[in-house]
Amino acid sequence: MVLDLFLMDSERAWSRHRPPEAPTCALEDLTIGGTLPHVWSRRWSDEPNGPVLLEGDGARSALRGDDLAQLTGLAASRLAGYGVTPGERVLWSCGTSLDAIVGLIGALRLGAVVVPVNPSASRSELRYVARDVGPAISLVDRAERRDWLCEDLEDAVVLHPDALLRSTSDSAAAALDTATPADDALIVYTSGTTGEPKGAVHTHGSLLAGSLALQTAWGWRPDDRLLLALPLFHVHGLCAGLFGTLAAGSSAVIFERFVPAQVLDAVGESTMFFGVPTMYHRLAESGRAAELSALRLCVSGSAPLPADLWRRFHADWGVSVLERYGMSETLLTLSNPLDGERRPGSVGFPLPGVEAAIADADEAGVGELMVRGPSLCRGYRNRTAASEAMWHDGWFGTGDLASVGDDDYVSIRGRRTELIITGGHNVYPAEVEAVLGRHPSVGEIAIIGLPSAEWGESVTAFVVGRDGEPDIDALAHLAAQELTSYKRPREFRVVDSLPRNAMGKVQRRDLL
Ligand code: AMP
Repeated sequence: MVLDLFLMDSERAWSRHRPPEAPTCALEDLTIGGTLPHVWSRRWSDEPNGPVLLEGDGARSALRGDDLAQLTGLAASRLAGYGVTPGERVLWSCGTSLDAIVGLIGALRLGAVVVPVNPSASRSELRYVARDVGPAISLVDRAERRDWLCEDLEDAVVLHPDALLRSTSDSAAAALDTATPADDALIVYTSGTTGEPKGAVHTHGSLLAGSLALQTAWGWRPDDRLLLALPLFHVHGLCAGLFGTLAAGSSAVIFERFVPAQVLDAVGESTMFFGVPTMYHRLAESGRAAELSALRLCVSGSAPLPADLWRRFHADWGVSVLERYGMSETLLTLSNPLDGERRPGSVGFPLPGVEAAIADADEAGVGELMVRGPSLCRGYRNRTAASEAMWHDGWFGTGDLASVGDDDYVSIRGRRTELIITGGHNVYPAEVEAVLGRHPSVGEIAIIGLPSAEWGESVTAFVVGRDGEPDIDALAHLAAQELTSYKRPREFRVVDSLPRNAMGKVQRRDLL
């Protein structure tokens, strides 16, 4: 396929992200040498006594650099004691806790490949990923899900992350931090439009490049403290939030879930907050949003931040939210600037090391956003055809439509695919349709994201009954059983028929 690419001037964009007086790293440093575990270990030995991870709720315990070095080394040795070798997968399905993070970092230091899964995933979702990756061991903090894995996987070794650390068995010390930049480090499952999840494989090199780009662009310093209430099974919380914190030698206050009052109570000793638009919506409703103005940086991403909400934060509460853009496959690729204008409704311009282009733009300049750079994953696990379909001469097709405005500011114009983003989570209609369409009372079903001020989009089911009315109570029950909560329709609408084109395809727009 030949693409007509409109290339952005990347050198110009990169220079606008680098403070000329004190660049924290050169662009070449994003790609050559080193891995995150190396960088982290160096940080911990340079600063052994400073707190690095602090619990923002519950027990309020903390880990210092030295604790992290010791405990993650112990976790790596214990994993090795269970027979895990470098390159093998470790499935990690946990809520945010210090022990769970130690297990995850320990796996990376051992050279194992971490596969994060939402701890609320349904049984079939968890089974799908587990079968696709074949984990050597799984770290899972919920008893029910440990049971599921034991029943659904042959020879499964499934542990609570606490058990990994509390074990009294002697394990020989594992070799630490020996992975090279080209070695696989992380597999993040994302769905295609077909609804079949695909594992995007990141190497140690791509993860390091992603962290260093943010360090450079956002002036991330050792004295920064991040309020981290994002889930860690997604790249936003894991790669940008946690890995970024550790690579900068800074600290983070971690929260098991997002409770606006808890996050705001911790603003005093913090400098940054990363959130999704739904979080900003809830902060706006808290009556305390002005407290965020004490932070040096508030970042939003994973879904479009409504320009009106941006303006409210700016005008009413003195907070200039910095919006950025990224994907599981690419990590963060575009960002508004730290210094200079942060434009509402725009995601800024390419981050250091990232090139961007608009493919096959229409007369309004809108086309598919293509990106390339060192933070991209190397492909999808076991899916050569899907990988080939997304890459063209090193350019990755994001599936998002975008245009480039004045001064290189990029605006995301919607999705080429029918992906629904609700509260920062992706929902693929085909996946939900496949689950609910199985119910005998359903003739046809279409899942659409309807605009919602609170959620960005709200998952809505349009259902045609089979031989009479569809059984909505049974469908809601089925959704609760089979789907993670954010994927479940918030509303069911019974319709007589679905609009279709001559080819038989459902015309989703006609349902809006
Ligand atoms: P994920 O792989 O879960 O990170 O989802 C990636 C998708 O989220 C992108 O392809 C976009 O559609 C969307 N996305 C991420 N950040 C933004 C943003 N700032 N504005 C609009 N859409 C975004």
